[in-house]
Amino acid sequence: MDKVKAKKHLGQHFLKDENIAKNIADTLTLQGYNKVLEIGPGMGVLTKYLLEKPVETYVIEIDEESVEYLQAHYLKLHGKILSEDFLRYDLSKTFGNEQVAIAGNFPYNISTQIVFKVLELRDQIPEFAGMFQKEVAERICEKKGSKTYGILSVLTQAFYEAEYLFTVPENVFIPPPKVKSGVLRLKRKENYKLECDEKLLFRVVKLAFNQRRKTLRNSLKTLNLDDNLKEDSIFGLRPEQLSTEDFIALTQKIAAYGV
Ligand code: SAH
Repeated sequence: MDKVKAKKHLGQHFLKDENIAKNIADTLTLQGYNKVLEIGPGMGVLTKYLLEKPVETYVIEIDEESVEYLQAHYLKLHGKILSEDFLRYDLSKTFGNEQVAIAGNFPYNISTQIVFKVLELRDQIPEFAGMFQKEVAERICEKKGSKTYGILSVLTQAFYEAEYLFTVPENVFIPPPKVKSGVLRLKRKENYKLECDEKLLFRVVKLAFNQRRKTLRNSLKTLNLDDNLKEDSIFGLRPEQLSTEDFIALTQKIAAYGV
């Protein structure tokens, strides 16, 4: 097989700049794991550089044509190509409960879903590095006070240190996407077990940002909070004024009053 034809519905934009592929592979710190899973390898431009690293590289790819291409061109991947949808795949089938880092020039049409799945699997994923559309990569790493600070920023940064590393222009892809791309790295925090009810934290953060221009007193109404609790000055703030730590403290307060 010669080349994979890009399919729009799978978010396929193949990277053609080898240097950038190498730079993305180099963002992995290789600390705390022996295995890496690349999501959406396509024709393997990034895979090639991952295979040079002192870790075992696996790939997961939804597109059968790409899988055939990889099987034909990368003998080193033998037995390590998962022909699956990352969003539906149970990682424990391949990795048990081992630690595994995630890398990729990801399919942008499912960026947010990828991040949420990683957050769910945080016990198994010590590091996550790769490329998203710039706006999403920035949002994940954003700190409080900014317009783009939101659900993704707070929840990701509750468990991971998030660093925006560099921007990649449209013209290094075939076909070029409509937007710029951004490379980021997430490193799981030492103490990523939060001192609050994590399910409640997710609920509070989502409710708060779903009505981001309202104060928490209004946006959290459906939680039927105790009137005394709502006297706390934190309820006069809007969600973008709260850091991840503030949201954790808020969740503790809400839990203390019982929801
Ligand atoms: N990493 C390659 C391809 C990037 S395009 C490169 O840089 O050139 C995104 C890739 O993700 C495509 O190969 C696409 O088929 C794959 N993909 C899309 N949705 C996927 C999913 N749900 N699970 C696994 N791979 C997926």
